[in-house]
Amino acid sequence: MFTTTRLKLTAWYLLIIMLISVSFSLAIYHVLTDELNRVERVQRLRQERRIFILAPGSPRTPSIDPEVMEESKNRLKSILVLVNLGILGASSLAGYFLAGRTLRPISQMLDEQNRFITDASHELRTPLTSLKSEIEVNLRDKDLTLKTTKNLLQSNLEEVNNLQYLSDNLIKLTQYQKENAVSFEAVNLKEVSGIAQRKVANLAKRKNIIIKNEVNDGEISGGWQSLIELFVVFLDNAIKYSPKGKTVTLTSRKIDRSIEVEIRDQGMGIEEKDIPHLFDRFFRADKSRTKAEAGGYGLGLSIAKQIVDKHQGSIRVESKLDKGSVFTLRFPLRYSF
Ligand code: ADP
Repeated sequence: MFTTTRLKLTAWYLLIIMLISVSFSLAIYHVLTDELNRVERVQRLRQERRIFILAPGSPRTPSIDPEVMEESKNRLKSILVLVNLGILGASSLAGYFLAGRTLRPISQMLDEQNRFITDASHELRTPLTSLKSEIEVNLRDKDLTLKTTKNLLQSNLEEVNNLQYLSDNLIKLTQYQKENAVSFEAVNLKEVSGIAQRKVANLAKRKNIIIKNEVNDGEISGGWQSLIELFVVFLDNAIKYSPKGKTVTLTSRKIDRSIEVEIRDQGMGIEEKDIPHLFDRFFRADKSRTKAEAGGYGLGLSIAKQIVDKHQGSIRVESKLDKGSVFTLRFPLRYSF
């Protein structure tokens, strides 16, 4: 498909270039032949006047041989045809090359989109297969009791919740790719982190994890909802990937015209080789370990990265296996003049 489109685009480039080139050549041909005719006319008139004064009545001879005139016009035609053929050849090559360069980002985008669809379908297939087989097995059971049915429905509900979580995250991921996904206003990071903390309070309570929020006042220009979501992603991960009874600490400090917020946990940590891939879509470090225990789909950090990018911020990660991780977010401070 890409080659056909490239050839089509090359053909369009060629058509435009050749239209311009042929029009110019025709114009040049007309101007030059008109000029030749004019020179011939002027020379003839001058000669006639001279002959009339010197020897009236002598026979008239043309000033420029008509054969020479015709030959000049033919030579001009050949030169212009050759030049146009040269332009056609050169612009075919240049057009093909340029068409390739024009289409490259589009082709990369398509590849990326296809990869995304494949990954998303793959993630959807697992819970759907599990739902389907559970329902099929139980439907075949002739002695299905009310208790088993309730257990089945409970398990189905869990899978449906997983699917909902996945689809919500997929929607978020695509929404944050839009240009105007965030409407900017003054946002206090202390307030935002407080709201996010309350949102994950139940999860923390279930694991007996204490969240210490020591974020100071600091205003940045950003979207409230997206920043709350951002903190929820990091707090949620810090809780999910920490053993029971640990502490998660949030701190902040101002550096030059920026503010840094640190989310520090005492959890399982991340292997060094995994750190560069953390923000890739659907990435889960040590899949068997984290998916089974925490049930994530590897989308949280890629959503977080998109939110941070939208706010011209950056993320740093430091981690030690079985000791814990520190995620540091940095944003430009908002200044009121
Ligand atoms: P998920 O929904 O799987 O948590 P994320 O994109 O949020 O997806 O995280 C990607 C992976 O990074 C996780 O699967 C986990 O392996 C690792 N990870 C993220 N945060 C932490 C953390 N605080 N401690 C240990 N591992 C983490």
